[in-house]
Amino acid sequence: MDLGIAGKNAIVCASSKGLGKACALALAREGVNVWISARHQEALDEATAEIAAAGGGAVKSLVADITTDEGRDALLAACPAPDILVNNAGGPPPGDFRDWRQQDWFEAVNANMYSAIDMIRRCLDGMVERRFGRIINITSVAVKIPVPTLGLSNGARAGLTGFVSTIAREPAEHNVTINNLLPGYVATDRMWSVLEAGARATGQDPEAFRKAHFSKVGAKRPGEPDEFGATCAFLCSQQAAYITAQNILMDGGLYPGTF
Ligand code: NAP
Repeated sequence: MDLGIAGKNAIVCASSKGLGKACALALAREGVNVWISARHQEALDEATAEIAAAGGGAVKSLVADITTDEGRDALLAACPAPDILVNNAGGPPPGDFRDWRQQDWFEAVNANMYSAIDMIRRCLDGMVERRFGRIINITSVAVKIPVPTLGLSNGARAGLTGFVSTIAREPAEHNVTINNLLPGYVATDRMWSVLEAGARATGQDPEAFRKAHFSKVGAKRPGEPDEFGATCAFLCSQQAAYITAQNILMDGGLYPGTF
């Protein structure tokens, strides 16, 4: 299927590895020009080379911390009129809520709620004026099934989800959509470290913990980053203009509810 987005410009935040990189790669394969970013140069260079080698749209990269105003300024200076915005940031550390203080909560809310809100604030009106826009927020299945050790993440992302639901319908008449994409367990560095932490916290053997974990997933395996990227690219397509304000699970059947 031709997604009809070749030649569009996309900012993909936090994208030298994992889910962000997979989204950038999938968009570039559709002919979208992508601006990728992260805090560390080396992985960013590797990702840039990988995406360029895949062919399609142009890829440019910049070192930018998406949790800071300076990082967001730099991204928008590099790509001032994005047609597509993929919001993403690193996830907060696991732990016990008894140990978290104000600063821990501020950091989690800043990274996993405010950063995305601020990028939306800066990009939305331009998209409306240009009569095309696709905003995807990478959140987590944890907004539907809270992960016990990830209270900071569950809390901050639920806040973003509530905010997005507030604003995501109004711009749809101008061909601008906003959706959240919720990974369950998709095979990235972050996923393996979360499982590692889960095994440690419960005193279980890591291999046994992983096996028990994936037995609860309908697909009985972790998701592939490429599968995640392809879903993101479809949500950014011309064909997806009638999908907005949704929380789309990419979890291989982990979530057990009817809706
Ligand atoms: P990952 O493999 O660890 O990749 C994270 C990427 O984000 C890296 O490129 C990293 O590069 C960049 N990054 C982190 N903090 C950043 C910052 N402040 N500014 C700019 N770039 C930053 O993680 P992932 O699995 O792709 O996860 C992405 C998000 O989805 C996380 O919030 C994670 O919690 C969430 N999530 C993932 C899964 C999953 O199954 N993978 C499930 C649920 C939720 P630098 O370190 O160089 O900045």
